[in-house]
Amino acid sequence: MTQKSLIINNLEFAINRLKLSDSLTTAQLPRLAELLVNQEKTHVQFQLSGTGKQFRQPSLHLNIKANLAVTCQRCLDEMLVNLNLNFDYLVSSTEISEAEENDEIDWLEANHEMDVGELIEDELLLALPIAPTHAHDCSKLNTQSGDKPNPFAALKGLIK
Ligand SMILES: [Zn+2]
Repeated sequence: MTQKSLIINNLEFAINRLKLSDSLTTAQLPRLAELLVNQEKTHVQFQLSGTGKQFRQPSLHLNIKANLAVTCQRCLDEMLVNLNLNFDYLVSSTEISEAEENDEIDWLEANHEMDVGELIEDELLLALPIAPTHAHDCSKLNTQSGDKPNPFAALKGLIK
């Protein structure tokens, strides 16, 4: 399997309204992969589009759809975090104050060798909850796992 290069000239990409869509393997996302428990169930797809001068500056739109298999911090079982993220970036060699004023738009430094995979990994690391837990109440399902000492059991020992 040959992997398409994810290195782009982000300014030209924006101005020429280029498009790139692909899926990423966890091998391409090494920092994220450290947080995952099941790499086979993890899927990351993205679409990057140059949007010309939509915001008066060359800009990019990025959509990331990801299923990330992580550990639930309540029951310590595997769970999937589904993310559908959208970003707009202004591309410029100097920082744009407009980007700071508008929470919706981020600034990307003009770079003729920008690594799209790295950008996606950064955004996923920011979007991933610090302590993900199942949407349902999973705490009662795994009480017999015995990994964690029950604090009340320890107290009982003291009272006796
Ligand atoms: Zn859980």
